[in-house]
Order: sequence, then C-alpha cells, then structure tokens
Amino acid sequence: MNTVYDIRGMMPDELKKMLEDMGEPAYRAGQLFAWLHGQQVSSFDEMTNLPLSLRNRLKDETELVTLEKLIERISSDGTRKYLLRLPDDETVECVLMKYHYGYSLCISSQVGCRMGCSFCASARGGLIRSLKPSEMLEQVYTVQRLNSIRISHVVVMGTGEPLDNYDALIRFLKLINHEKGQNMSLRNITVSTCGLVEKIEELAKEDLPITLAISLHAVTDEKRRTLMPVANRYSISQITKACNNYFDKTGRRITFEYSLISGINDNMDDADKLAGSPRPAGRM
Ligand code: SF4
Repeated sequence: MNTVYDIRGMMPDELKKMLEDMGEPAYRAGQLFAWLHGQQVSSFDEMTNLPLSLRNRLKDETELVTLEKLIERISSDGTRKYLLRLPDDETVECVLMKYHYGYSLCISSQVGCRMGCSFCASARGGLIRSLKPSEMLEQVYTVQRLNSIRISHVVVMGTGEPLDNYDALIRFLKLINHEKGQNMSLRNITVSTCGLVEKIEELAKEDLPITLAISLHAVTDEKRRTLMPVANRYSISQITKACNNYFDKTGRRITFEYSLISGINDNMDDADKLAGSPRPAGRM
C-alpha cells in the first residue's frame, strides 16, 4: 500500500526526500514548502511554478489538509469565534482576538480532551482524537485566509491538552516558526497545560523559547483534585518544581491561569495562599 503523505505536516527535509523518491529535483521541496506555509494555499492548482504533472501526482499521492468554516460569531469587542470542520468531519474551535500589537489566535490541539476538568465543556465527551500538526497549522492559515490578515501571536489554549499531543505540538511549533513559512517568533506563542509534569520536563529540553502557561485554578492539592482529575497524578509542588526547572533551562517566564469559580476557589484564604502571604489576623 502506498503511503499517503500529510503534506502540510512535513518538514522541508521530509518533502525533499519524498520528491526525490518521486524522481523530482531537490529544489522543488523549497517551492512546495513556500506554497504550503508561506502562501498557505488550499489547493495544488495554486502551485503555479510546479509542473502540472507533479501537481497531479501530489493530488493523487498526498493529502493537503484544509479546514472549512462552519460558523463564525463576532462579539461586540470584535473577537471572532470559529467552528471549523476537519477532513474527517470532526470540528474544532478557534478564537481570533485583535490587540494593539496585532492579531492573536487561540487554537485547539485535540478534538475533545481526556483531562476531565469539571469546569470545562470541552471535556464532557472525553477525547475523540488528537489533531495532526497540519490541522493545528490550518486553523491559523484558515483564519488568515478568511480575514486577509497576518496573525502574529498564537495561544495553544483551546480544546485539548497540548502536552497530551506532544509530538504534534512540537512539529507544529517548528513548522510555524520556519523562516521559509510563517516565520512566527516562538516568543509569540503560548502553550497552556493543566500540568503534565513529565512533559513540562521534556519541553524544557527542546530549546524552544515559547511561553508556558499553567492552568492552576486552585491553591491546594485537595481543592485542585475536586476541579481537575490531573491533580490526582501531580501535586502543586511537583508542578512548581517542574516550572522552576523550566525557567532555569529556558529563561522564559511562566504564566499561571486561575479561573474564579463562585464559592469554590474565590475566598480570601485562596487569594492569600495564591499570593503566598498569610492574611493578618482580623482582616476580612
Ligand atoms: S485540560 Fe483544558 S481542555 Fe482539557 S478538560 Fe482541562 S480545561 Fe478542558
């Protein structure tokens, strides 16, 4: 059986090898990569500097992942929310926000999620599947095409736990950062995790200057376990240790996310513990 290449998820050296195996000259890999990631085309027909015979072969022997817009909702502040259809008819959401420094897109890394956080609608149906690197990239490319804009920042904070789809995440980061593609600075990319400690340790060794964000949402392990099943596997002190190690290795700042849930994690004790300072006696 012939391999069907997921062509938008391939690194330049992999494209070169594939094209050489097809009997094509090596320089075609650079042209192809530029069409896929620089121009972000959605069809082989647009690759006008490739011979027609090669374009037809690529149509037959590779898959060019594209996403289809199903729903677009625009909020009063200009935020645009998208529901996009994947090639297998599953769907993902992403959110476009405009800031003074440019456009930022929040993308999904999985269809569903198996982390089971009690406050999260994405977790209700469990994990359906992880996204391919091409499907993560295509969220960015599709929204850019739809709005004729250039997105400068990406947050991997939509549906899914990115570190539970680790290899695809790393490939996505390398592809979106590639100088012949989008050339997006890794410093403009934030990856949010519920705290998978071994993966944070692994990420620290990748030498990728992204920003790491930790979904904390509670200041004690006991309370965190009631909100986030992942807290049964990793304590806050284990996560803190992994974060310190990450900072030591990368020098990159880490952000902590804390959603206020009325009556659950929003009292003064929580605030004091979060700030790391005990409340003086008698203070409300
Ligand atoms: S890790 Fe994120 S996407 Fe997954 S259940 Fe928790 S909040 Fe939801």
